[in-house]
Amino acid sequence: MRIDILTLFPQMFDGLLSCSIVGRAMEHGLVDVKLHDIRTYTHDKHNIVDDYPYGGGAGMVLKTEPIFEAVESVSGELGLPSVPTVLLSPQGRLFNQELARELASCQNLVLICGHYEGVDERVAEHLVSDEISIGDYLLSGGEVAAMVVVDCVIRLLPGVLGSEASLAEESHIGGLLEYPQYTRPAVYRGWTVPEILLSGDHGEIARWRRQQSLLRTAKRRPDLMEKAVLSPEDKRLLSEAFEIKS
Ligand code: SAM
Repeated sequence: MRIDILTLFPQMFDGLLSCSIVGRAMEHGLVDVKLHDIRTYTHDKHNIVDDYPYGGGAGMVLKTEPIFEAVESVSGELGLPSVPTVLLSPQGRLFNQELARELASCQNLVLICGHYEGVDERVAEHLVSDEISIGDYLLSGGEVAAMVVVDCVIRLLPGVLGSEASLAEESHIGGLLEYPQYTRPAVYRGWTVPEILLSGDHGEIARWRRQQSLLRTAKRRPDLMEKAVLSPEDKRLLSEAFEIKS
């Protein structure tokens, strides 16, 4: 997969792209992330990328020309008539695991990071295929939002995570929150690890984990629980867990 990011601040991505899972995926050629400074697509001597809003009001608005040219330059380089292009925006559809999976199935993806008061509306109307918000709060720019999307999408690419099995049980992947995790020491400041995890009985451990995952989701995220598809065994585990708790 190749991801092209259009931004006024390419240096903000240095950490994400050089460390951890994303850094390794890049190093192993599993994904190619290219950064484009929107300023380099201007033609005036001051490299102006923004202007005052028509109709007045506070702040500056990112101009259409450099953004259109940057996206067209990417599709030209790829030899494609168009590329799936996302504008990061607080007004977009809410990002979640399902949307991440959708994006991870694309061969190419362009992400546009807005800044200041936002982006001239003609970009949303005539250039992008989607607008995505990472949550109901306001960021200063689309860069942090793009990093969230990039990290989440790259984790889903084949070969990026060491163990595909571990992915299957993680929070939001199968629609539930993950069970609690523990590591050594078995006792810390008098707080013990659940005994079942030390038993070596893998069948019982898997059953306990599923029950914890169901219980946790029901208590913390009833909205997810409503959408979850539960087997008869899941329902039994859940009612047993509530009986134990009460
Ligand atoms: N004036 C705009 C509005 O009220 O909708 C907000 C502009 S915001 C300060 C600047 C840029 O940050 C946006 O163009 C967008 O790229 C990004 N941004 C802010 N909040 C975001 C969010 N929740 N999700 C995705 N991008 C966001």
